[in-house]
Amino acid sequence: MVPERAVLACYAHPDDEQGVTGFLHRCVQQGMRVGILCATRGEVGEIADPALATPETLGAVREQELRRAAAVIGVQDVFFLDYRDSGMAGSPENADPRAFINAPPDEAIGRIVAIIRAFKPTLLITFDESGGYGHPDHLAICRWTTEAFHAAGDPSRYPQAGAPFAPARLYYASISRAVIKQLAEFLAQQGIPSPFRNVDPDQMGLAEERITHTVYVPEYVDLKRRSLEEHRTQLSPNAPLSALPEELWRAFRSVERYALVAGVPLPVGAPEDDLFAGL
Ligand SMILES: [Zn+2]
Repeated sequence: MVPERAVLACYAHPDDEQGVTGFLHRCVQQGMRVGILCATRGEVGEIADPALATPETLGAVREQELRRAAAVIGVQDVFFLDYRDSGMAGSPENADPRAFINAPPDEAIGRIVAIIRAFKPTLLITFDESGGYGHPDHLAICRWTTEAFHAAGDPSRYPQAGAPFAPARLYYASISRAVIKQLAEFLAQQGIPSPFRNVDPDQMGLAEERITHTVYVPEYVDLKRRSLEEHRTQLSPNAPLSALPEELWRAFRSVERYALVAGVPLPVGAPEDDLFAGL
């Protein structure tokens, strides 16, 4: 009998999960338990339309947006670490003592360990070390999820956080570095400011040689779009990616890339879209 499988995707803000919604939905379709862990409620994100939220209500509004976006792909289990959005690098929000980046590492890791031990995921998924585009909370959730992956199965670590449970594999999910460069070039040709303009393109996303899994989900592109559109406060018509022609957008959203970074090694010849191969 195949043991019960579960997946926990660990992110920093509501809408960060959008890079992996195809794979998460496929797991739901296969009868697995799927959860999303979110460190903050994205309290200092955009407000696309002032009718939707104020700076004071944005966190509560974005919590509901994430719950609805998750429900669209069939995910009911959403966990919050209850930290505050740290804002973009260099913003005054970085100094807020409630900000995720200012959490004592042991406390933040302990909260992730407690959720892992309760939910018992086979796979953990989080950002790669570049955080996609370098947001300080993205870097923090990658670092602390990685530490929690190694600590959760160790009875000597965080004994107050529940019975030890070791997930089998840790994956980093990101856009491939080559695709980021293609997108940046396309936007530059169109004269559209790139979201990647402040970052070194050679440090962003997953380098091709690290990608262990490419998951094609063209059949879920429309569902993924409906999930994304639940994040209404973040949907600015001026967002750079909204300038992509429909065909390019669908191609971009049809592929998700993952890198196995820790846990049970893959069997030789494992299919490139099976993150559970050999388990
Ligand atoms: Zn984010």
